[in-house]
Amino acid sequence: MVSAADAPATPRYDPDPMSLRTQGAPPFEVVVFDCDSTLSRIEGIEDLARGHADEVRALTDQAMRGEVPLEEVYGRRLELIRPRAEDLARVAERYREEALPRAEETVRALLSLGKQVRVVSGGLLPCVRPFAEGLGIDPELVFAVDAKTAPDGSWLDFDRASPLARAGGKLDLLRSWGDLGPLALVGDGATDLEAAPACARFIAFTAVAHRPTVADAADAVCSGPGLDALLPLLLTAEELASLDTPS
Ligand SMILES: [Mg+2]
Repeated sequence: MVSAADAPATPRYDPDPMSLRTQGAPPFEVVVFDCDSTLSRIEGIEDLARGHADEVRALTDQAMRGEVPLEEVYGRRLELIRPRAEDLARVAERYREEALPRAEETVRALLSLGKQVRVVSGGLLPCVRPFAEGLGIDPELVFAVDAKTAPDGSWLDFDRASPLARAGGKLDLLRSWGDLGPLALVGDGATDLEAAPACARFIAFTAVAHRPTVADAADAVCSGPGLDALLPLLLTAEELASLDTPS
């Protein structure tokens, strides 16, 4: 177990680490995870891309660095790829294979303390939901962009009305939940940082992708290597001590 003293924490407004905003401190009622490059090492859309990999990766990077709005690249990427049902199932499996170390144990620890664990992802729901469910997360609490395929498995379309397919959508979705109690959000990208105003604490998770613009603006930064490195930033000292998790 990583101790709280080992966990790097960068306050958003002040270089003094003692000045973290009061409302930014645990305990949290709800812990929200991004999926791609947070719960799993892969970017699902890049894994789907195959023959269009370079073009899709370039579009994704631009969006995650905040250089272009997500909605400009979202439909373009899927029109290039047009994934089949079996491709979506394959990416669900790839998420699982590339899950961060101790992801399942971390989710279990949070649930054992009565936290509600949610996933909010700009990835495709048919890929993200089975993966998150395998980590022990309630599938009803997994939010991603739905996609439709035809009975023969061919691509039809994604949910173009989904807030998660456009810039600012994570913030709108989190706000639409109303008051669930203090909420912590963990993610690596610009779309996660956009949702920080709806959170008590936004933690930049940099174990897979380190984006300086995101990390510099976060309430706290966690560099992993496993997902359990987040626990000192998500729990009070009392909650941490109550876990029997062997390191
Ligand atoms: Mg991500």
